[in-house]
Amino acid sequence: MPTMRVAFVVALSAVLFGIAPQTPSAPAEHGTLRLHYVQKPIGYERYDLARDGDAFQMSSDFDFTDRGGNVHLNATLRTKADYTPVHFTAKGKSYRFVNVDSDVIVDGTSATVRADGAEAKITVPAIFYTVDGYAPFSAQMLMLRYWKQHGEPRVIRTVPGSPGNDVYVESRGREAIRIGTKAVRLERFVIDGVVWGRETLWLDEDGSLAAAITRAGGLGFEAVREDLESALVAFVQRATIDRLGDLETITARTPPLKIGTYAMVGGTIVDGTGRPAIADGVVVVRDGKIADVGPRASVTIPEGVVTVPIDGKTVIPGLWDMHTHVTQVEWAPVYLGAGVTTVRDMGNEFEFITALRKDINAGRALGPRLLLAGLIDGPGPNAFGVYYAATPDEAKQVVGKYHDAGFEQIKIYSLITPPMVEAIAAEAHRLGMTVTGHVPNGMTIDQAAIAGMDQVAHLAIRGEAGSDEVNRIIGVLKDRRTVIDPTQSWNELLGHAAGAPIAAFQPGVTKIPPPLNRLFSNAGTAGIDAATARTRLERGLRIVKALHDAGVPVVVGTDEGIPGHSVHREIELYVEAGFTPMEALQAATIASARAMKLDGELGTIEKGKRADLVVLNANPLEKIQNIRTVRWTIKDGKVYDAPTLWRSVRFQP
Ligand SMILES: [Zn+2]
Repeated sequence: MPTMRVAFVVALSAVLFGIAPQTPSAPAEHGTLRLHYVQKPIGYERYDLARDGDAFQMSSDFDFTDRGGNVHLNATLRTKADYTPVHFTAKGKSYRFVNVDSDVIVDGTSATVRADGAEAKITVPAIFYTVDGYAPFSAQMLMLRYWKQHGEPRVIRTVPGSPGNDVYVESRGREAIRIGTKAVRLERFVIDGVVWGRETLWLDEDGSLAAAITRAGGLGFEAVREDLESALVAFVQRATIDRLGDLETITARTPPLKIGTYAMVGGTIVDGTGRPAIADGVVVVRDGKIADVGPRASVTIPEGVVTVPIDGKTVIPGLWDMHTHVTQVEWAPVYLGAGVTTVRDMGNEFEFITALRKDINAGRALGPRLLLAGLIDGPGPNAFGVYYAATPDEAKQVVGKYHDAGFEQIKIYSLITPPMVEAIAAEAHRLGMTVTGHVPNGMTIDQAAIAGMDQVAHLAIRGEAGSDEVNRIIGVLKDRRTVIDPTQSWNELLGHAAGAPIAAFQPGVTKIPPPLNRLFSNAGTAGIDAATARTRLERGLRIVKALHDAGVPVVVGTDEGIPGHSVHREIELYVEAGFTPMEALQAATIASARAMKLDGELGTIEKGKRADLVVLNANPLEKIQNIRTVRWTIKDGKVYDAPTLWRSVRFQP
């Protein structure tokens, strides 16, 4: 009976894969990778690779559960003996909101590519590969073997994907990783372009995948072979060193146009205080600070100071993103390119984010000012991340760890219990930290605020603006001065009718690199029309406006979204909600600075504050969309060219 069963499986596979039955395969190579999300083990990828005559047949089962939701992807890849792809299939999901349904059949130099319901016949170059995002890792492993077999080419074109979806592979040499008493010899590779930005992968001496450090859904994602599991953090740390090296390289290639002392002369200055714009203004910058600002007639430019004419341009304070996850170094030039000089990170890999902040603060790497909120969740299989608190003692320990590492805040996540909110808040406040995060399950936003949360992420208010219940909740938030980052651009991005063009509300989507394009082309909500999506968004915007009118501080946050561009969209949405352009701008500047108690040195263009400024080609008070016209971004007095920053990480300016 077992023999028949095997025969049945082979026959069924032949039907499914559309290939003729083959002679029995040579002994197969098997691999089991433990999958982790933000270092928490959440599932497995299991793959088989069989020699089949002069071909290889790989099949992979990629499966994990993230915060209670299952993500499952089945993939197959048939290759020639030199790993050249012949037939690739992938079906399922690679992340919560990323559906994958791809089929690529290669015939010589032509390929039939079916992806996302569309089919095309394309010509493939001599060097190409079939991968569709980070999963399955076994496909990336075979791509590395192909790269080695083909003379380590500089560029590999990948399908499916838009034209120009190029992948760059680099070997960074051999190293050993210690597991117990034995040393395992590995080769380390950096791959750029399978996902947006760089990943690190390791192959062992047999060419089998040992580990991969990448990102999924914008957060850290790790695959580690089962027997190497104990080295997870060592792999994360090694990849972090790689990434900081990459950012230092970008930094060296993107030097500031100007530093030191200079005067920008002749532009419109929107100082962000709420006062009217200054026409024909001057900003004098000295050693990273604003030395003077005002109308040309009232500012004396010290003798010998270099002047920079900015006629026709508008200067605003550096923007903030109060809800992000800077999980890759490519965010650093993107944020500066978008005019964002300060961000609050709302949950990340501890090793990565602390190392990145150190590098930026030391001036070795360019990037926005990083403020950190440390993630804590309740325990259990549905928890998020690896820092838990189920008892007051555990809360003290985790809060203490973040405090010692210089985090400004604690971010509470959904499984924290109501009594633990109080314990965490008490300890955080004792140490001079503030508390933000999700409203935990089983609590309402007003209860969370009363329990000690100083701030709340996302718009956790049901019902209609103007109703008694919503008014009551807003009253509580107002009394406690609870800060809200309502992430409406994120709601819009995930809530828009699937299939409707994102460019209709977010023009930035036309400028992002191919892997992000592919990711977001799948985003959206199925089964609703554009009018329904807009109605849902407008309900949220009415509440945002009601909060603002009541005096509850509303700050701009994106939860990542379309890198950089979502900051602009969030600001535009507040104007759609009924904020004045000045108020929307303040939500992204002084209101954010105040929420983080940094308004003494940041948030407006005033004498003595840090020189974090944005020079725009057009005035956002006249039309809020002009916020997208960033020409130069100035952080701590260093002037960066925005188009150069964008290009450094494969965005179009
Ligand atoms: Zn978030």
